[in-house]
Amino acid sequence: MQVMKKLRAIPNGQKYRYGLIMLSCALFFAPFLILPGLVDNPDLCGKVCIRRFYLYFPGMTLDDLGAQMSVAIIGVIALSAILITTFFFGRIWCGYLCPVGGFPELVSRLLNDRWKIEYRALPQVPIRYGYFATYLLLMPMLGISACTLCNFITVPRIFEAFSGGLMGIAFLFSTVGIVNLGLLFLLGFSASKGRAYCQFLCPIGAIDGIVNRLGAKFRFTRRIRVERDRCTGCNVCARQCMTGAIKMVDRVAVVDQFSCMSCH
Ligand code: SF4
Ligand code: SF4
Ligand code: SF4
Repeated sequence: MQVMKKLRAIPNGQKYRYGLIMLSCALFFAPFLILPGLVDNPDLCGKVCIRRFYLYFPGMTLDDLGAQMSVAIIGVIALSAILITTFFFGRIWCGYLCPVGGFPELVSRLLNDRWKIEYRALPQVPIRYGYFATYLLLMPMLGISACTLCNFITVPRIFEAFSGGLMGIAFLFSTVGIVNLGLLFLLGFSASKGRAYCQFLCPIGAIDGIVNRLGAKFRFTRRIRVERDRCTGCNVCARQCMTGAIKMVDRVAVVDQFSCMSCH
């Protein structure tokens, strides 16, 4: 009943976005696995992984980077396509298509707001890029695998487990699975707006935010901006923004392009 009420309350303009995210879940995840299946891959890891071919290891050479890229060649192509579209058109992948970020947002939207955690007060840009530097440099130096904290393994495994796949069930009961599931609950399902993982920990989101900021600087496309002379500083947009990208500066809303996902 509560879920139906929540569904009905979704603004019409956002319903098509959730429709795309659900379609994306069907294309990327079990039981259908349509897109990974096209390249004969069982999940979003291995040759389709977009999260780890750019990691820096001490003493790494260009040949090593080439080897990392060749292992995940489909992921290299996919990430390039994501970043090119972001540069010219805004964060279409993150806002409209990524099932890994979109699924927790949708679940969070349907849950009771009373249990939600509000992360808005945290300084998301320093945390995101601080973690990104740790992920890129410190974790490889310490020998910690990029797969230890990975939303791109966790969300697909949940779908796999619910489709009866043994690998999915085994993952969710493993130590890595439990830690990742805990993070997904804290930063996804039970986060206000469901996008805290995207805001703080996702390396793709960190790179994509930089490219979005660059695209906005060159004004290639229409980004979300505020008409300063019409803004009354009512704060409504800041409270509603799914990524906490809007702040009031001198009682005027300002959109941070490092964080905005162009969800409109
Ligand atoms: S930030 Fe990461 S998880 Fe979130 S939508 Fe973008 S790619 Fe997906
Ligand atoms: S604070 Fe946001 S919603 Fe309110 S008038 Fe300004 S732009 Fe519009
Ligand atoms: S600023 Fe607007 S378009 Fe950007 S993420 Fe927030 S709500 Fe979406």
